[in-house]
Amino acid sequence: MATLEIHDLHVSVEAENGAREILKGVDLTVKQGETHAIMGPNGSGKSTLAYSLAGHPKYTITGGTVTLDGEDVLEMSVDERARAGVFLAMQYPVEVPGVSVSNFLRTSATAIRGEAPKLRTWVKEVKSAMEQLQMDPAFAERNVNEGFSGGEKKRHEILQLELLKPKIAILDETDSGLDVDALRQVSEGVNRVRATGEVGTLLITHYTRILRYIKPDFVHVFSEGRIVESGGAELADKLEAEGYESYSTKGGATA
Ligand code: ADP
Ligand code: MG
Ligand code: MG
Repeated sequence: MATLEIHDLHVSVEAENGAREILKGVDLTVKQGETHAIMGPNGSGKSTLAYSLAGHPKYTITGGTVTLDGEDVLEMSVDERARAGVFLAMQYPVEVPGVSVSNFLRTSATAIRGEAPKLRTWVKEVKSAMEQLQMDPAFAERNVNEGFSGGEKKRHEILQLELLKPKIAILDETDSGLDVDALRQVSEGVNRVRATGEVGTLLITHYTRILRYIKPDFVHVFSEGRIVESGGAELADKLEAEGYESYSTKGGATA
């Protein structure tokens, strides 16, 4: 079973008045098959963690380690990370002009599997995954993210997750901007992937509502650039009732 280990991770971004430390020593271990929720107020550094794991060039690692089965993830290029099995669904997915969903998925699958999936079985795979997510078949021929609604973007993320089957999936605010039906469908997709037991999921969210549909094995509270408390699913109930205020050193003005 693959294990992602984050140890004492420190990350800075370049701001106008010099480098600013955003992540201040994150420790976290995610194993294939486990579902971890990371919850915290806006601005606490959750997306910075996601981008840093994915290798976004804007974020400078100033300390700590990230390994996948002992291999140094921080040394890998973005492509190498994807091939190694680390998948990031973006909070703000980018448009890929002129590339259809269908071609994008096949290219991604080819990169990750090391060989192009056979066309006939691939078309079937895509079709059945799209049906499960209740997506219109015509969606496969649209250009990636071009004119996608919020719900379509999120379904597209889950479609990638189901087809690419990474070892570790990082879902950043997959629940934001979804209506109740879309939230349920997206959650069911995550739960199907989870049921395979082959994907470790890092579910990053500001809200507790997605956790009514996806019961995490572990919940971590993120505040001011680090994990300040960890527990089981019951911790999410506490957060829903009490909010994040008690975790802030600034007296609760961060959310
Ligand atoms: P969250 O996802 O928890 O809302 P973020 O990781 O987006 O938090 O942001 C954490 C802090 O880092 C915020 O104060 C934000 O303004 C800052 N930050 C994040 N990314 C950048 C960036 N690329 N440039 C400058 N500041 C950034
Ligand atoms: Mg934010
Ligand atoms: Mg964020």
